[in-house]
Amino acid sequence: MLKDQSDPKVFWVKRNPGLAFMGGYHAFPGGQTDKEDEAIPVAGCEATDESAMRVCAARELFEETGVLLARGAERLSGDQLAERRRFIASGHESFQQLLEQDDLQLEAASLVPAGRWVTPPFSPRRFDTWFFLAWLPDNQEAVIEPGELESGEWILPREALERWKRGEVIMAPPILHAIRTLAASHGPFDHIAAALTSVPEARRGEVRRIEFGPGIYFFPVRTPTLPPATHTNCYVVGGSEVIIIDPASPYEEEQAALDEFLDKLLGEGRTVREIFLTHHHPDHVAGVNHLSSRLGVRVAAHRLTAERLRGAVRVVRFVADNELIDLPGEPGWRLRALHTPGHTRGHLCFYDENTAAIITGDLVVGIGTVVIDPPEGNMLQYLKSLDRLLGLPRLSSLYPAHGPAIGSARLKIEEYISHRNMREGRILDAIKAGSETTAEIVPMAYSEVNSSLYGLAERSTLAHLEKLVEEGRVTRLNGGRYHIS
Ligand SMILES: [Zn+2]
Repeated sequence: MLKDQSDPKVFWVKRNPGLAFMGGYHAFPGGQTDKEDEAIPVAGCEATDESAMRVCAARELFEETGVLLARGAERLSGDQLAERRRFIASGHESFQQLLEQDDLQLEAASLVPAGRWVTPPFSPRRFDTWFFLAWLPDNQEAVIEPGELESGEWILPREALERWKRGEVIMAPPILHAIRTLAASHGPFDHIAAALTSVPEARRGEVRRIEFGPGIYFFPVRTPTLPPATHTNCYVVGGSEVIIIDPASPYEEEQAALDEFLDKLLGEGRTVREIFLTHHHPDHVAGVNHLSSRLGVRVAAHRLTAERLRGAVRVVRFVADNELIDLPGEPGWRLRALHTPGHTRGHLCFYDENTAAIITGDLVVGIGTVVIDPPEGNMLQYLKSLDRLLGLPRLSSLYPAHGPAIGSARLKIEEYISHRNMREGRILDAIKAGSETTAEIVPMAYSEVNSSLYGLAERSTLAHLEKLVEEGRVTRLNGGRYHIS
């Protein structure tokens, strides 16, 4: 939604950081279709699916912002509109009833199609999303009721872009594309709509070039990883000179897709400095040999990762804790390598000191859970590593190895810590109640988990127990039995 024809501002919203899906992201008002949407007529529009999508857009816009795009809405006062919005929110009245009672008519012309995007496969939830452009009607205002959306504001697209460049906001690819396009175009409405739909991704093409932060490219490749994840994210960071983190896929067609993506980036005048590895797990390193020989680029990792990969991947350079990787360009990248053991001994995260974003590898993930499997996994170190991230001077977004980027870094890390603390509490309770071995502890401490996952849960429990023993809170007896100290 836009307003002010001479220098248009766009209305964007911030999704609540606590939401499981795209929490903390900036987006546009919108939502999912309702069965009822198909029953509402739209003047000037025949096709049922397109008509239903326009109804959905108009309904969601009204529910989320109070703006009503309908002929006849100009007869309603601000108070009347607010009252009707409350009726709908409370389930008192449907959108269709509202339109009929006030003799309002939805019109195709008030919503100009602006593309259709399909969520990339790495996402835990996939949508086929239609976008529309609309002007804010005269005498109406957009007001956000905090809930699923935390806030909303009118902003000049170029200012929105600046905020993204500073790492202050995070957006999904279609939103970033829209903001960039709006910042660059000043023509009439249909010119803007044409520019918005000019890229193949806006016509349901596959979205593979994802730039979550400026110069932080996110390229998910299919890997044999742990469900529910199906992909590992390969990251490319920098300007004229880039580094590549975790070229992960063992599959030829996925390696070829990554090659093609990199060829495009290199064709734009970039060179690759080095390939970095977050850790040694196969779903992070299986494409390394192919890529390093293809590009003639060396591989860098923590010494402990290199040791685990000896004979399989040639790591040429060891990355030490706090090593700085400076990459020139606009806005410029200064990645600090953070040795963050816990998931594996040699695990690294990369903290961008400019935008306060962190490439987290498998320390924090966007889908599924992080496995802490002793002896490689260590719960005490894992929690210390999470604490270390919390102690960084600034935090913005997290770029995990699996699943989408996470908009509210601090909240997510705190959630991870409290989840592990909760589990530790339940393990202690189980021991206090008389359970002695991991096999006895798991059904109590993981009672909500399907028993098919008890094997994994036992490994996690062992990691918790090792931590508790090290802290002197639990004693290990013969035969893998544990007692409270
Ligand atoms: Zn891993």
